[in-house]
Amino acid sequence: MILGMSVASICLLGNPALRTPATEVKIFDQPRKNLYRKMLQIMHKAKGIGIAAQQVGWTERVCIIDLGSASRQPDIVGTCIFDGQPTVVADLMPLIVINPVVLNTSAEKLLSQEGCLSIPGIQASVERFSRITIRFQDEGGKEHTLECEKLFAICLQHETEHLDGTLFIDHLDEAGKVRIQPQLDAIRRRGEQQKVAPLNLQ
Ligand SMILES: [Zn+2]
Repeated sequence: MILGMSVASICLLGNPALRTPATEVKIFDQPRKNLYRKMLQIMHKAKGIGIAAQQVGWTERVCIIDLGSASRQPDIVGTCIFDGQPTVVADLMPLIVINPVVLNTSAEKLLSQEGCLSIPGIQASVERFSRITIRFQDEGGKEHTLECEKLFAICLQHETEHLDGTLFIDHLDEAGKVRIQPQLDAIRRRGEQQKVAPLNLQ
């Protein structure tokens, strides 16, 4: 998720990989850990705060979040509870999230101004739950629960949706879609012709 210049190794809107739901991660091995490192590097290079597997042409349910300096600002990321313990958000970064399942969402929602590495240059306002609880596995396969809010929760919602093939622009109403349609069409044309060498296991 978020702003940033287009990077050659990131799939753009129009690339079918983005609309293909990812499959459950069943193997927790070193080649996958290496792949997650590469995903993180690509995300940092693109100045993103979150990246999902399909954005690098990978097909399993993994996303990575690194809120960077924002993770030290409670007014931006709020508080979180990790495996039942109040935890400093910055201590969890970068967070590799495998096979995430949303367990709970708050009644309260908020408007989030979002961008996406796969839709460069576009920002739009999206309604998100202000607090969510998820269950996920780490890169060793160990299961965890995480309750978080504000930007952390927004980013997790954006990234876990990617794993289902959903993009933030899908949440816009008709007027919102019409407003950015010309830019989306231009990106989609690039994405349809894009030759991204997908990350793979080594
Ligand atoms: Zn995104």
